[in-house]
Amino acid sequence: MKNNCIFCAIAAGEIPSFKVYEDDDVLAYLDINPFSEGHTLVIPKIHATGMLDASDELLATVVARVKKVAAHLKTALPCDGFNILQNNGAAAGQTVPHLHFHIVPRRGEGGGISFTSGKGDMAALAKLADRIRIA
Ligand code: AMP
Ligand code: ZN
Repeated sequence: MKNNCIFCAIAAGEIPSFKVYEDDDVLAYLDINPFSEGHTLVIPKIHATGMLDASDELLATVVARVKKVAAHLKTALPCDGFNILQNNGAAAGQTVPHLHFHIVPRRGEGGGISFTSGKGDMAALAKLADRIRIA
C-alpha cells in the first residue's frame, strides 16, 4: 500500500469507497462511521499528513472542493447546515494520518459539537495574545 496509508489506497482505487465526488486532485467519499447521514470526507489524492505539511496551493484546492461538495450535499441530501472538521494529530483525534476534511451534515436547530467552553480570563487572554502574536 502506497505510503502505508489507507486514504492513499482509497485514492488509488485499491480500497473501495462510497464515492461522492472526484476530480484530478481531490476525492470525496462517505465516512464509514458517520456522525450523521451524509457525513463525507474530502481528501487530496496526493499524500499529506495534515494541514501543516500540505502546500498552500493544495490546501486552497481541497478547501474549494470542500465548499463545492458541501453546497451539493446541502440540497442533494438535504441538510440544514453542516460542520467542517479537520483534525491534526492524535491529540486532536486524528486517526488517519492523511489530510482530510469532514463534512458533517446537521439537521434541525441548535446542534453543537462537544467542546466545553469556560469563561475567559481577560487579563490572561491579553497576556497569551501578547505571547503568541505573529510578528
Ligand atoms: P479522523 O479522526 O479525523 O482521523 O477521521 C478519520 C475518519 O476516517 C473516521 O471518521 C473514520 O470513520 C473514517 N474512515 C476510516 N477508514 C475509512 C474508510 N475505509 N472509508 C471511509 N471512511 C473511513
Ligand atoms: Zn495518504
